Amino acid sequence: MRSLVLIGHGSHLNGESAVAAYRYAELIRARGLFDEVIEGYWKEEPSLRQVLKTTASTDVTVIPMFISEGYFTETVIPRELGLGHQGPVPPEGIARVIGGRTVRYTLPYGVHPGMADVIVARAREVVPELGPDGPDDGIDTALIVLGHGTTRNENSSRVIYENAARLREGGLFSEVHALFLDEESRVTGWADLVRAPRVVIVPFFASEGWHTLETIPEELGLSGVVTPFPDTPHGPQQVHYARPVGTHAAVAEVILHLAEEARGAGGPGGDTERGHEAAWQAFLTLARRGARVGELLVTPELGVFEIRNALDEGRPGGDLMTLVTPEGVRDRVRFTDGGEHRPVHTLRSLPRGWRAVLNEADLRRAVHYTYPAVVEETYAHGCHALRPTPWATTARRQTGIYAKVQRAVPEQVERVAERVCGGCLRTRLWAGDRLTHSFLDGVPGGMPCAEACTFLVAEVREEVARKKAAAASDD
Ligand code: SF4
Repeated sequence: MRSLVLIGHGSHLNGESAVAAYRYAELIRARGLFDEVIEGYWKEEPSLRQVLKTTASTDVTVIPMFISEGYFTETVIPRELGLGHQGPVPPEGIARVIGGRTVRYTLPYGVHPGMADVIVARAREVVPELGPDGPDDGIDTALIVLGHGTTRNENSSRVIYENAARLREGGLFSEVHALFLDEESRVTGWADLVRAPRVVIVPFFASEGWHTLETIPEELGLSGVVTPFPDTPHGPQQVHYARPVGTHAAVAEVILHLAEEARGAGGPGGDTERGHEAAWQAFLTLARRGARVGELLVTPELGVFEIRNALDEGRPGGDLMTLVTPEGVRDRVRFTDGGEHRPVHTLRSLPRGWRAVLNEADLRRAVHYTYPAVVEETYAHGCHALRPTPWATTARRQTGIYAKVQRAVPEQVERVAERVCGGCLRTRLWAGDRLTHSFLDGVPGGMPCAEACTFLVAEVREEVARKKAAAASDD
């Protein structure tokens, strides 16, 4: 049995950020090479601290869905997963046994050599005449691999240079240039460098966004997919602007190669993780009788299950939108009724107006999407196996922009927690609160919180920053 975990950044503010990992997870799930494909996030749920607990097998391959190596892939993700490693990840990845699971952590997909093929695939979308040995129409074509670039992280540009070198060797393009938005050599100077009459620009970006949709076209004066430049130092040229590499379906192949190289898709695999399975069996026993889990009402119906917001109890099915897949539930419960993103799923804001009819296997996945890691953590709490992490420990672990939460005094943390956690179903074990009964005992809102979530950490950081700004203005 094998589990694959894709780690995305996620966002506390914007639901779009998580979508790429969901999309690749779906593509890989459909291939059937792993028994399960789970998504985990830095700023959404299941969080990096929780995600390994949500895997069903003892053989877990973890792939960071990032375009280059850097702070997240080398510091944040290994630290939060508990890999006991900081710094550059070797090409063969890192393997550790954590809580009875063998966890293999790989390099981010963006640095895999297979990304050169994804760049070519993007280029072919805007220049279909690119044959296997070069353009079929005889027009010289130059390629610009466009990176963001930053002087703070040399890895960010290294991956661009490496891909440009690979593609230069491939001979498909008459010229290949590595150019950047925010460091030298800048893409704004492309016309002085590139001689070929046809120029393809492929953004080496993880997703479509502000840069790919706005700043790049604006800075280069692009008017669409194809823009003629009749008067450049090298004569008339035509720029073909491709979509970013990170959203191409072929990235799923790169992810699978990475997983194979980490031996996650080969070898004998692992076993069913017993604690995880026991948790879900406890949940299913409850569900077969009908249950409330947080704001969710679970009703068994002729061999399938119906779930809906408990506030919609008694409403005719015809009044509600009927969902039939775990993904449908996922996409519904990620937003409030008002359309706001829900980075913390146990906040009491589960949307209404829907029901889902699911078989038992899909019920598990739908509940996982509705309340990530809650079944596993609640069961572990009932077995006295969930160890709370006090605030001080969570704060000490923070780095980068979150390190300033270490300066928060207990009263500040409590004030923020009252506001944030007051709207959450979970009970703050990390603050010393006690949870005597859980939804597994028939108390719907009984769910443990073993550790302050990243949403709360971010809010405490804001509070510290506000206080500092207020003190400065008083001075
Ligand atoms: Fe809920 Fe607060 Fe725990 Fe976050 S820290 S999951 S808001 S109880």
